Amino acid sequence: MDYYGSQISRLIEQLSALPGIGSKTAQRLAFHIVNMPMEKVQALSESVLDAKKNVRYCKQCFTMTDRELCPICSNPKRNGKQIMVVENTRDLAAYEKTGRFEGVYHVLHGAISPMLGIGPGDIRLKELMTRLHGDVEEVIIATNSSLEGETTAMYISKLIKPTGILVTRIASGVPVGGDLEYIDEVTLLRALEGRVEL
Ligand code: ZN
Repeated sequence: MDYYGSQISRLIEQLSALPGIGSKTAQRLAFHIVNMPMEKVQALSESVLDAKKNVRYCKQCFTMTDRELCPICSNPKRNGKQIMVVENTRDLAAYEKTGRFEGVYHVLHGAISPMLGIGPGDIRLKELMTRLHGDVEEVIIATNSSLEGETTAMYISKLIKPTGILVTRIASGVPVGGDLEYIDEVTLLRALEGRVEL
């Protein structure tokens, strides 16, 4: 049944296709949007389009950015010799929020999962290995403590070991199966400080 007319229904349908938005939230958002002043709606839709058009992967760490090099990679104050490997951009953001990590990142965009058919070639691992030809002292593996995260950590450490570069894994202050992005900053810091050599 189309209670609202096709345009509102279309908006609700588009919104409810987004992750984490159920049909009730989609309805609430749709009504909120149509009640917003025109210039606010314009700004919202432009920011969606601009982000889609301009956001790409940083050519060094593969986080999402609208520049060739992200603000972290291009910051001369960051220690390029220390690379923290994370599964996704949200995990990077979680560590950045602590404000205490001075190194740089490498975003894998996933984790190895034989169950889901995701192999080493499906994540940004080759790109990480290429970075290691540069001046790198430590690779901190901060993948999630899920089965996939642990599998990925083991795989990476085996790959890097022969290069002589120090490989560490964040401590298990991070709960098993826990997604990094939902963990509080104190726990993240403790995990970073308590990292162990692999
Ligand atoms: Zn970067």
